[in-house]
Amino acid sequence: MQSNFVDQYKYKGMRKRLAELIARKGKFDHALLKAIEDIPRHFFLDSAFAEQAYEDKAFSIGEGQTISQPYTVVYQTQLLDIKPGDKVLEIGTGSGYQACVLAAIGAKVFSIERIAKLSDQAKMVIKNLGYHVKLYTGDGTLGLPKQAPFDKILVTAAAPEIPSALLHQLVIGGFLVIPVGDMDSQQMIRIKRNSDNDFYEERFDKFKFVPLIGEKGW
Ligand code: SAM
Repeated sequence: MQSNFVDQYKYKGMRKRLAELIARKGKFDHALLKAIEDIPRHFFLDSAFAEQAYEDKAFSIGEGQTISQPYTVVYQTQLLDIKPGDKVLEIGTGSGYQACVLAAIGAKVFSIERIAKLSDQAKMVIKNLGYHVKLYTGDGTLGLPKQAPFDKILVTAAAPEIPSALLHQLVIGGFLVIPVGDMDSQQMIRIKRNSDNDFYEERFDKFKFVPLIGEKGW
């Protein structure tokens, strides 16, 4: 992938319009919309597609995977209710864009990706932008036991069911946000861990993600 690590006023203007478009679609925190305005999404795509980076659409990043639609990134992040300093595990680093959004609003981010090539590309972009994100390669359906517990866990791929390891890597009071369903459509679910074995589930809108592939995935 040939990235374009040059920002321009043109792209800044496009990002501002993208943040305004998303703001009209729901009630989102100012800091989160500011992150969309600040982070050059075209850095995460091949330079040939820089102009399309500011459409509110998912986009191919190679290896059969996608960078999520910006609205989806904002939607999932809002559900996580990030507080500065929160320790967050993202499953599905992909391009690294979502990880940077989390870092920009003050989270301490750990992100795991199963495809090493994507993780390597993401590392380069994240470093270039100066965000601190700890990247891992492996099967995120098992979580990241050595670094657990986490205040928040975010899954950015479609799960057939909720991987139990993730529930048990949350702090008490922590949230897991995960799209669950079949290959064609998933419902966004948020689980709050109330105590060791008490989990409260809420259901939100439907989305379509690429599959979560692994021991506790597809
Ligand atoms: N968050 C990403 C971004 O900002 O670009 C988009 C993620 S993409 C929709 C989903 C990612 O999840 C893909 O890169 C895919 O390889 C990854 N994935 C699928 N199953 C996984 C697993 N078991 N562990 C870790 N990553 C996984």
